[in-house]
Amino acid sequence: MSPEPIRAGRVALLGRPNVGKSTLLNALLGEPIAITSPHPQTTREAVRGVLTVGPTQYVFVDTPGLHAARTKLGDRMNRTARDVASEADAVVLVAEVRASRAGAGGGEAGKPAFSTADYEADLALARELGRLPAVLVLNKIDKLRDKTQLFPILETFGAAHAFAAIVPMSARKGDGAPGLLKELRELLPEQPFLYEADTLSDQPERFFVAEFVREQILKHTRQEVPHGVAVVVERFDEIGDVPHIELAIHVAREAHKKILIGAKGHMMKTIGTAARARVEKMLGKKVHLRLWVRATPDWMNDPAKLRELGFGQDSTTNELPRGSR
Ligand code: GDP
Ligand code: MG
Repeated sequence: MSPEPIRAGRVALLGRPNVGKSTLLNALLGEPIAITSPHPQTTREAVRGVLTVGPTQYVFVDTPGLHAARTKLGDRMNRTARDVASEADAVVLVAEVRASRAGAGGGEAGKPAFSTADYEADLALARELGRLPAVLVLNKIDKLRDKTQLFPILETFGAAHAFAAIVPMSARKGDGAPGLLKELRELLPEQPFLYEADTLSDQPERFFVAEFVREQILKHTRQEVPHGVAVVVERFDEIGDVPHIELAIHVAREAHKKILIGAKGHMMKTIGTAARARVEKMLGKKVHLRLWVRATPDWMNDPAKLRELGFGQDSTTNELPRGSR
């Protein structure tokens, strides 16, 4: 028997905000590298995670969710997601199952259990895939009491795009991941690995440090604060045994600055302590972490500020090494 051929390629995770793309990426990698939260639009940049299993290398690209953009930052997030998808070898479209509006209560006996209206936005994305090879993940099936409700959903999505496979799963529980990987392998081109086999991500450490700080801000503050937060590493000195890391937290309003600092600096302390623990775990050593809060009014709508804070037009889409296609 001849050995299985080497396959490698990019797989874009696409879908509306909050359907569980980042959770799925972490489940597939077995490592929590993408930050997740119940706040929509947590992921801003394309985060790449590399998984090498036997003769297959998957380069997953988590994307910001496609949404109706209300700021220039939102525009850029949408553009990033579409660019990543168009350059991928395969797409995983993620949609979440939910109880039908028509069948309030989760589709109990006698009530209509499925309405395409609930899935209009997802179906539109499915149609937009055109000729891209894609697998559909119907996520969060742990929320569905009656699994027979899946049948009409499968049928409707199957009519919207010729998916190579449809995988109902729960990204949070991680079940279904092996089956999804098997389906995806079939869509990848036969070519050498794009990264060393032990690579987990091609993002630099400083990227993760900033994301871990942002993750804690999302965890500890409410709705409007997180949407206007940008975290930038201003200093990352490796001199000596204990790296000194300084980060600036840009917020959109003076009022948000007050919230983030908190009474007697309490909030800042909570965020800093939790983020430091996460960074120390990643780096495997102690670090000094200092956080500064700066009010940069309405930076999300200022093209110059967006560039300054790292949301450059091309900064997130052109870094992947090209496969030999
Ligand atoms: P993204 O915006 O698509 O990246 O979504 P996230 O991965 O950040 O997840 C959004 C929210 O959905 C988070 O609160 C997750 O914990 C939750 N979530 C993700 N996957 C599942 C799942 O399989 N089941 C349930 N019940 N919740 C999930
Ligand atoms: Mg995300």
